[in-house]
Amino acid sequence: MSDLPHRLAEHLALNLADVHERIARAAQAAGRDAQSVMLLAVSKTFRADAVRAARAAGQRAFGENYVQEALDKIQTLADLRASLEWHFIGPLQSNKTRAVAEHFDWVHSVDRLKIAQRLSEQRPDDLPPLNVCLQVNVSGEASKSGVTVGDAAAVAQQIAALPKLKLRGLMSIPEPLGDLDAQRAPHRQLRVLFERLRVDGLALDTLSMGMSADLEAAVLEGATIVRIGTAIFGARDYSR
Ligand SMILES: *Cc1c(COP(=O)(O)O)cnc(C)c1O
Repeated sequence: MSDLPHRLAEHLALNLADVHERIARAAQAAGRDAQSVMLLAVSKTFRADAVRAARAAGQRAFGENYVQEALDKIQTLADLRASLEWHFIGPLQSNKTRAVAEHFDWVHSVDRLKIAQRLSEQRPDDLPPLNVCLQVNVSGEASKSGVTVGDAAAVAQQIAALPKLKLRGLMSIPEPLGDLDAQRAPHRQLRVLFERLRVDGLALDTLSMGMSADLEAAVLEGATIVRIGTAIFGARDYSR
């Protein structure tokens, strides 16, 4: 019998430990409790085996960008469903909202009211409210998706009123920047907005920001979820 699954599990366990160490060090530098930062493992383009191995190493929350790929993985891993949290983090088209409302626990990439309304209408009654974040296009956001900082408060208030959603907070994907100070600026902008919305009365607890290359900057600026792919699973191959 091949011991490949075993080696995959070992390799992922080491990478996960490294990422937890990075989070702990950044949290300590920020005077924060490392437990206040949740690690979301971004498994897009990686096979269900990799998710299973990461789960065996203690990882619970997984992020996916492509609806069909995610549905296949969720189905393959149905035996683990109760111990996994599935987070949708990719661009979401109207015609894909039903599948996401039915199969995910979180959506980080809500970038307009219409998508939120559909997710709320389509969330099955026997499931708890879908946790969502409003994606904000902080200056120079690489993906170009997301509401503007100026529109965020109004859209957030409308989303917060939808019955089958629970608005948890804000998400952003800043453009890749080289040094720590430059990386911190857009994250700080998102945190300032987050704090303003809380003062306005929204019960938000989530700042979804930081990826493999800017995890430290995000934790220093208050991230409560970091979305990490490459540093856990390795480089992605989009050719398959
Ligand atoms: C792919 C992706 C990530 C993970 O990026 P890495 O640089 O591989 O850590 C995080 N967030 C979003 C929205 C993504 O699409």
